Amino acid sequence: MLSYDLRSLESHPVQVAGELAPDDPVWKEGDPRPDGSISVTGRVSKAGPGKFYFHGRLEGMLRAECRRCLGDVAEEIEDEMHLIFAEEDDADAAEDPDVYLIDARANELDLRPALREQWLLLAPSYSLCSEDCKGLCPTCGADRNVTTCDCAERSDSRWDALRGAKGGHPKH
Ligand SMILES: [Zn+2]
Ligand SMILES: [Zn+2]
Repeated sequence: MLSYDLRSLESHPVQVAGELAPDDPVWKEGDPRPDGSISVTGRVSKAGPGKFYFHGRLEGMLRAECRRCLGDVAEEIEDEMHLIFAEEDDADAAEDPDVYLIDARANELDLRPALREQWLLLAPSYSLCSEDCKGLCPTCGADRNVTTCDCAERSDSRWDALRGAKGGHPKH
């Protein structure tokens, strides 16, 4: 679903309550897909000749990888949206990057490509499992959230020895 008949939109607003599934054909390879369906609610109404306005919300879970420890992260994504759609022969609309164009031959307003774009904008470019994730040891690869290794200790003591040899006092 998430497609609405343009002729009925001309006469009256339509309530939106739908789901965008993670296997919907609108997704492209490499997209950060939702974990489960994205729920979409709101309303589409006519905003002028050949123009429509969607005001609503999307809510979904994003499954991502922690940038520091590569562990699984589930992030909740939700946002309110105000989107404008216009027929592509509207010259002003065609120049406006914030307007989604509707194919002149279309009978339906398909919200999915616009929702996909909104989702991509909302998906964080990198995720953390927690603000204080300790990450992986760059030397041995151990997950420092669950285990300890002595790599850091060893390089610290080498550093201390070096500073000691120079006779300087470390500044912080
Ligand atoms: Zn992490
Ligand atoms: Zn290590």
